[in-house]
Amino acid sequence: MILLFFKTLPEREMRSGFAELIKHGLISDGGLFDLLRENFSKQAALSGEALPEFLAKGIKVKADIVAQDETEQGVRAFLNFGHTFGHALEAFGGFKRFLHGEAIIFGMIYALILSEREMGLKFDLASFSAWLSDLGYETTLPDDVTFEEIYSRMLHDKKNDFRRSKIRSSQ
Ligand SMILES: [Zn+2]
Repeated sequence: MILLFFKTLPEREMRSGFAELIKHGLISDGGLFDLLRENFSKQAALSGEALPEFLAKGIKVKADIVAQDETEQGVRAFLNFGHTFGHALEAFGGFKRFLHGEAIIFGMIYALILSEREMGLKFDLASFSAWLSDLGYETTLPDDVTFEEIYSRMLHDKKNDFRRSKIRSSQ
């Protein structure tokens, strides 16, 4: 069913959807990220037969995180990886210019650069970006996207996150 759905999607939409699977790979510790890189090395693989198995793995990562959050506070936030920046970029583009997945790809790159710079994360960002380009993603922000534009929208998104978590914890 999922495969059928993916196969009927235009290439750009499919690549956008695949961005969430890349996110699931990055936030899981089960080697999913390496497996994705092995199995999806080129754009054509995105519509290949390995896809359903990996979509299922991605869904499991998400389900495990949601299940964990009942006892462990905050892990659910992992699912937001790349999304604060991504949402800001989507808003900047009037929700027409960037597809959700295209925007969160930039968001994940931004988060990884920041983690490297601020937290000393050891991660081969150059090789990650090269892989994303091979899959057909844009990895360099257009010139008219300024930090100020994104930052003011990120602050707005953060406030929304805070409100949402307050609502959730009071339930
Ligand atoms: Zn998303």
